[in-house]
Amino acid sequence: MDDCIFCKIAAGSVPVEALYADEMVVAFADKNPQAPTHLLFISRQHFASVGHAPAALLGHLLAQASEYATRELPGGYRFVINTGDDGGQTVHHLHVHLLGGRAMHWPPG
Ligand code: 5GP
Ligand code: ZN
Repeated sequence: MDDCIFCKIAAGSVPVEALYADEMVVAFADKNPQAPTHLLFISRQHFASVGHAPAALLGHLLAQASEYATRELPGGYRFVINTGDDGGQTVHHLHVHLLGGRAMHWPPG
């Protein structure tokens, strides 16, 4: 989509340092980090949210994020998928937040 920042990042027209990339997924640092490690794993293809994406893509996205997180954050980590207005989603393109490098709080608020 033309006006979607994550589509532009996935296409390379807005450059980021990719920390992981394959034919379906790109990962890069969040511009407003909420933890010492805060990455976004996004799909290359535009889907508005987790509820719109095919199961195979969701499985691949989470599998790659898990592989990265298990390797880089052995002390633990948190995945967050904000969805819709009540979920606090601000970029309407499928993405998973990976947060780590500090102890996480619960409830998340
Ligand atoms: P959401 O609120 O939709 O779950 O998360 C969107 C995230 O994308 C936010 O944490 C925000 O900081 C991040 N973000 C938005 N625009 C950009 C950008 O242009 N570059 C990067 N690296 N992160 C972005
Ligand atoms: Zn998009």
